[in-house]
Amino acid sequence: MLNVVIFGPPGAGKGTQSKFLIEKYNLMHISTGDILRVEIAEKTQLGLKAQELISQGKLVPDEVVIGMIQSAILKNKEVAGFIFDGFPRTLFQAKALDRLLEENNLKVDKVLFLSVDKEELIKRLLLRGKESNRPDDQDENIIRNRLDVYFDNTFPLIEFYKEQNKVAEINGVGKIDTIKEDISKEIDEIK
Ligand code: AMP
Repeated sequence: MLNVVIFGPPGAGKGTQSKFLIEKYNLMHISTGDILRVEIAEKTQLGLKAQELISQGKLVPDEVVIGMIQSAILKNKEVAGFIFDGFPRTLFQAKALDRLLEENNLKVDKVLFLSVDKEELIKRLLLRGKESNRPDDQDENIIRNRLDVYFDNTFPLIEFYKEQNKVAEINGVGKIDTIKEDISKEIDEIK
């Protein structure tokens, strides 16, 4: 199995690159943001709780997303590997992911870190908000909150993974095809 974390701030292109990776390497895409948006659309109890936090640009509780990841791993034992998108976002989540994978004799093989500067991210997210109707992409204040949450809580995880020699930093600005090629090189190296 090949398990990849696609890491980076909101708007870095994690979703776009994940789509390419699942096709090329036959991986299963697990995006906690996508799963939460389905819960919201279906107006489940979890969705209603999450909606309030998401609309303010805050994180949903660790236990909630860890539970979602756990059931996705258990339900998909036959896949060639996972691509984790938007998860982990805290050190607690990263440690939980290691534990969940370990319980299934698996591990994180690579962390692809898409780096993009803050002003470019704000531009991209506002554009995505216009095109997609995602409420958390519409308002610049919420976008700035999400980026603050990213830089305060999530970005430090890079150190956790660097200590394990798992990080490949990829320039997330430029042609999508060039970024795809850079990512492919990294994955082909560990295959
Ligand atoms: P995303 O689509 O990954 O940008 O996620 C959208 C929103 O869902 C985030 O701003 C958070 O409010 C919530 N969310 C998604 N993944 C996580 C996570 N791993 N931990 C906490 N909250 C999350």
